[in-house]
Amino acid sequence: MDYMTAIAANLQAVRTRIAAAERESGRTVANATPAVTLLAVSKTWPPTAIRAAHAAGQRAFAESYVQEGIDKQSSLHDIALAWHFIGPVQSNKTRVVAEHFDWVHSIEREKIAQRLSEQRRVDLSPLQVCLQINVSGEASKSGVSPRDAQLLASAVTKLPRLRLRGLMCIPEPTDDVVLQRRRFAQLRELLATLNGDLGLSMDTLSMGMSDDLEAAIAEGATIVRVGTAIFGARV
Ligand SMILES: *Cc1c(COP(=O)(O)O)cnc(C)c1O
Repeated sequence: MDYMTAIAANLQAVRTRIAAAERESGRTVANATPAVTLLAVSKTWPPTAIRAAHAAGQRAFAESYVQEGIDKQSSLHDIALAWHFIGPVQSNKTRVVAEHFDWVHSIEREKIAQRLSEQRRVDLSPLQVCLQINVSGEASKSGVSPRDAQLLASAVTKLPRLRLRGLMCIPEPTDDVVLQRRRFAQLRELLATLNGDLGLSMDTLSMGMSDDLEAAIAEGATIVRVGTAIFGARV
């Protein structure tokens, strides 16, 4: 099987996993939590791989490195794709991110959020954002602590050119399904608490990757971010 055919087959296999996980957690029932969106994480993979996934019906892609992401966007300008940024945002890169992406999942500092809002052009729709939450405590350095999330959420929600959609997490890798579920449940509970305390209506839980998407969907993920299971192992 050539690489392009493999991507189409892998995508189909991931869609089947998502559908099975939705079914198992009762999420295909009418009025249940919204369906899961598959975000294809294309970092390190060339535009040809993205074209293959697009030909197989995939429309939303995620990148972790700014320059790599915008290089690919310019070579793919002939096709309509949604672009999500999921890596750390440095302050000297906020303008490029604000101008070239539809979503940012990795907001962890108010200052970065302010810059993104100031730099989002008025002719573009507001930048859709998630706060990255550190649900693993000591085991992870990125993301805001659950304790500090309320302050950050209330600041971000006031920024005119951003639209706060929800929360994202990258828990510590583990094969322990019970621990996977616990981390994702923490994110779901935090979303409900923030919505209640701040009167928000955040609707997005960005959680689950190639190895743990079933656990994330069982706990209410609305976006899963999948790289390896679609494109293969990164080198
Ligand atoms: C790379 C990456 C992914 C995809 O991980 P896989 O294990 O390859 O599916 C998801 N989310 C973030 C933030 C990433 O950096």
